[in-house]
Amino acid sequence: TCLQTAYNSLLKMSGDGEGNKERTFLMLKPDAVHRGLIADIIKRFEQKGFKLVAMKFVKASEELLQKHYEELKDKKFFPGLIKYMSSGPVVPMVWEGLGVVKTCRDILGETDPAKSKPGSVRGDFSIHIGRNICHGSDSVKTAKTEIALWFKDEELVDWEPATYSWVYE
Ligand code: ADP
Repeated sequence: TCLQTAYNSLLKMSGDGEGNKERTFLMLKPDAVHRGLIADIIKRFEQKGFKLVAMKFVKASEELLQKHYEELKDKKFFPGLIKYMSSGPVVPMVWEGLGVVKTCRDILGETDPAKSKPGSVRGDFSIHIGRNICHGSDSVKTAKTEIALWFKDEELVDWEPATYSWVYE
């Protein structure tokens, strides 16, 4: 029916039918950790109203990072990327909310900090494409793969923020 079609397209706009439960994978990179920016960056996703579902502080193995960046394995910057990402601790996280994948990419800015607007994470905190502070999934589908790669099911915390009804109508 017409109503069903309208409903489906609404669902699509809100992220592949995930609605308020859409999830993304974000990861503070070693430069963010070394430069003492963990709290400043996480604050932006919290303040927006998104819900933190999982977070850890780890030194990632080269093997895990190679899987994470598998699609880039033929790029000439790949070895440098793996070296950078495995050189220090990272903060992998799962965040949830309506449109969280796209909105977090907007909050992060462009891959190249030089092309990122002031006000975005990369625009405010970084200069060089090889030290761009924070990762964010580029689609709902990629987010699912990345979440499964970095977190076990039992590490995803089930909770409802007390502010929920002040964030969503
Ligand atoms: P994004 O992280 O914005 O999704 P990509 O998936 O294209 O971007 O690249 C993954 C990561 O690889 C980037 O965030 C950046 O750390 C690194 N990278 C991309 N392009 C370059 C480059 N030309 N030189 C060095 N590092 C790069």
